[in-house]
Amino acid sequence: MMKLTIEQFVGMMDSSRAKGMSEGEPFEIDLEAESLYLGSQYIPLESRPANYGGKQWYFICPGCDTKRRVLYGVVGFMACGECQGIYKQTRNRTKTDCGYWWDMALKEIRKLDPNFKPPKGYVDYDDFPKRPKWMRWPDYLKRWRKFHKYMDKAHTLWLRGW
Ligand SMILES: [Zn+2]
Repeated sequence: MMKLTIEQFVGMMDSSRAKGMSEGEPFEIDLEAESLYLGSQYIPLESRPANYGGKQWYFICPGCDTKRRVLYGVVGFMACGECQGIYKQTRNRTKTDCGYWWDMALKEIRKLDPNFKPPKGYVDYDDFPKRPKWMRWPDYLKRWRKFHKYMDKAHTLWLRGW
């Protein structure tokens, strides 16, 4: 999972636009348009007046529409730590938290493949493994249905910004 800070983009800028590579991904930032394109993902930006006439820039988290100085994830799916469930150790998680359902989905996968690690850095629909030879079809389909139920819940909450 990668971590982006707003400073790593705006810190080095001497005009309002810049292009380059970040963590192997092409990016294009335009402060006048308040936009950042990272690979295929569009991330809105916002600024607040700071001391000495400067500006403090923020990402607008695509998950919860909140100003954030740090985003995590993989390209196409960058979001703040709260949306990505980074703070789960210190937060009391509830069923209205998309991270909770992603964890549940991940647990279903691990019942089939105990060593599974999400290749994209987050659980995706196509991560559900093929049926292991030792598992009976009805059991496999049950896991599959649960997995999809959890994924759907996670996505619904994610879109609502939880
Ligand atoms: Zn967020």
